[in-house]
Amino acid sequence: METIESIAANTALVRAREGGGRSWKWKEMLRFPHISQCKDLAMNIERDYYSLCVKQPIGKKLFQLFCRSRPDLQNYISLQDALDNFDIQSDDKRKESGNRIIQRFLMKQSSECVSILLRHERSCNQSLELNPCGDVFHGCREQPIMKQTFRQYRLLGKGGFGAVWACQVRATGKMYACKKLEKTHVKKRKREDMALNEKEILQELDSRFVVNLAYAYETKHNLCMVLTMMNGGDLGFHIHRMGSPGLTKDRVRFYAAEVCCGLIHLHQKSILYRDLKPENILLDDNGHIRISDLGLAVKMSEGSLVRGRVGTLGYMAPEVIGYERYGMSVDWWGLGCLIYEMTAGRPPFRAKGEQPKSSEMERRIQNEHEEYGNQFSKETKDICSSLLTKDPTKRLGSQKSGGKDVKFHPFFQEINFRMLEAGRVDPPFKPDPSQVYCTDVQDIEEFSTVKGVHFDQTDSFFYSQFNTGSNSIIWQNELIETGCFEELNVFGPKGSASPDLDW
Ligand code: ADP
Ligand code: MG
Ligand code: MG
Repeated sequence: METIESIAANTALVRAREGGGRSWKWKEMLRFPHISQCKDLAMNIERDYYSLCVKQPIGKKLFQLFCRSRPDLQNYISLQDALDNFDIQSDDKRKESGNRIIQRFLMKQSSECVSILLRHERSCNQSLELNPCGDVFHGCREQPIMKQTFRQYRLLGKGGFGAVWACQVRATGKMYACKKLEKTHVKKRKREDMALNEKEILQELDSRFVVNLAYAYETKHNLCMVLTMMNGGDLGFHIHRMGSPGLTKDRVRFYAAEVCCGLIHLHQKSILYRDLKPENILLDDNGHIRISDLGLAVKMSEGSLVRGRVGTLGYMAPEVIGYERYGMSVDWWGLGCLIYEMTAGRPPFRAKGEQPKSSEMERRIQNEHEEYGNQFSKETKDICSSLLTKDPTKRLGSQKSGGKDVKFHPFFQEINFRMLEAGRVDPPFKPDPSQVYCTDVQDIEEFSTVKGVHFDQTDSFFYSQFNTGSNSIIWQNELIETGCFEELNVFGPKGSASPDLDW
């Protein structure tokens, strides 16, 4: 006979199996950790499309919800289902099933056509003919980031290897700046390592004082880095193109303080920036700055120094010019140049409008002392001359305590760094949202095209390393900021989305 204990035990088990039984404290138990506790995860998580939107179940669900909200992406979900089905077809049925998929999703005429995948039609047809049992639809399984992901707007600026354009993600409406490096230029000048280095350093960073990398992708002709949009223009523009050269003392102090925080963040991650100059410091809508252009940045190994004459001549530290080994000291020299230029309206070793020969610039930087006019207050002059100390071991910021020394300088007395680091200090100047703070489009020179460059296997490998698609953290912020997440993450009865979303 069954004992009362065993009846009770079995009933409990059967009940539990029937479902329900969630603790009344379940919400508390499942509460997500604060985002700041997820930093390690953010560093280590696999960020590719496959891992985030296919392999991870919640990621997949969120991605499907997102796709269902957009007519152009809805078909993509049906395609995914059709492909899952294709995978389990017996050998003799694969050809027919594959052809149906091509007809349904990869042909322009079809009402279910997935426009972003049209370009795969030919290759899928071919591989279906050749080997219907192979991975025929490989190219369709990834949702690639590509040219069509964005709308392109005006040219914002030009650099050494390509141009920076304003762009907008079609799906969410979020604006970004797209830095395009021309493949031909990169190859011709052997800058593959540099391009990859810039991309990899950017993707490792997460600071309010450094531009973020949202996407990295390739097109036929370009390698593209999609960056935080900085609508307020670069500091060079503000110093030199907005009336009489130079900035007011409160702006100088504020920008210098934010740059200082950005440098400290980089240095904490063992990254030496090496390209501090007004053109590389950008303003956002509210007037906060971010350091941009990490093309020359270098990751240092523990306790070691680097060598290399890189940077922009007028802003290079004496030890860089002198081919010596150097460390973080060169960025503090750069900050000195920046504070000087913001105050005086000209860089420290060059008169207004003067274009000295490089040898003369080098001589001045290594041997001459900069002059201080009456725009310089006592503290401004003091911080500049401490940062522009020729001997890197004696330079402000270069001692053990690093950036802390700089923060404690009397020049920054009125800055509350803790508030500043939390983004709680109102900038002294807010860019006018109706103004475009950059050189007129027609005055930015066109890029000359390089002919006779041929691409091979090595190039393809390099491009594939570069082409890592979206940065998951930034992408999630994009969805939240643009309100997409709120609209998508609405669960109505029975787990459906809210009734006003048109499924
Ligand atoms: P390079 O490495 O070739 O110097 P940069 O990254 O400095 O290229 O970009 C060149 C110019 O493009 C900058 O001086 C700036 O005016 C503009 N620019 C770059 N990034 C952005 C951005 N995120 N938002 C707005 N403008 C930008
Ligand atoms: Mg630049
Ligand atoms: Mg650069």
